[in-house]
Amino acid sequence: MKTLRTIEEVRAWRSGENEVGFVPTMGALHEGHASLIRRSASENAATLVSVFVNPTQFGPNEDLAKYPRTLDADLALCEAAGATGVFTPDKEMIYPPGFRSWVIVDELGDRLCGASRPGHFKGVTTVVAKLFNITNPTRAYFGQKDAQQALILRRMVIDLNIPLELVVCPIVREPDGLAMSSRNRYLNPEERKRAACLRKALAEVEKLHKAGTRKTSILRPALVTILDDHVDKLDYAEIVDADTLEPLDEVDRPTLVAVAAFVGSTRLIDNVILGLRA
Ligand code: AMP
Repeated sequence: MKTLRTIEEVRAWRSGENEVGFVPTMGALHEGHASLIRRSASENAATLVSVFVNPTQFGPNEDLAKYPRTLDADLALCEAAGATGVFTPDKEMIYPPGFRSWVIVDELGDRLCGASRPGHFKGVTTVVAKLFNITNPTRAYFGQKDAQQALILRRMVIDLNIPLELVVCPIVREPDGLAMSSRNRYLNPEERKRAACLRKALAEVEKLHKAGTRKTSILRPALVTILDDHVDKLDYAEIVDADTLEPLDEVDRPTLVAVAAFVGSTRLIDNVILGLRA
């Protein structure tokens, strides 16, 4: 596995490969990331992982400074999962002095996480578009854990005619159902126990839906009740069209049930798709 530190090194490495799967990450890697890398390695001759804590997707009061940085362990995980290259740019390389250009996907980036994290998706789409231009991958791999991010990036790839296949991979969970996340390491043992309620609340909605309940006026309160009992602050609990993110009265099409909540000071997200794509 090659460690690539500069854009020039990535371009030189890329020119020697026919088919590249790309897995962008912010590091602090876990089994969720490993599943993306393994999937890419099984579908592409070469797999490139980027490790870059992207400052432009963090708000002023968010956890950029304390975001976990574990590069040595990350490199070992990448190699074990089948990566053949890892790109570790620094901030100045991605955002040099004078940087002024942004990629914005209208509307989709203002809802759900975008409503509570203004500017977050503008940072995500911009850095991912830049990484796509730098790495020119055949396929790019993202997790369903960040459902809104995957939807927005798919829109960006279509709208900007970016020539790659975007692959969305299933959520990898801890044994108690908690979606794996780099932020889970912030949770103390008591918070860690309560954090499992996000999955429990989503499972309750899935159960009601399976039993025939379609009205979101019944489904949403079931979701909120479980969350309110366990989390310290609910950010949102929404039942929306899986393609437009518009709120729904009835689950009569592919539907995204998405939640975000603070347990202690850690913000956690999770989701499930109901309907045709379930
Ligand atoms: P991050 O490092 O948090 O920016 O995540 C990098 C990629 O890994 C994103 O596409 C995430 O959606 C994906 N990812 C993170 N956690 C998980 C998980 N538990 N299961 C599947 N994919 C994940």
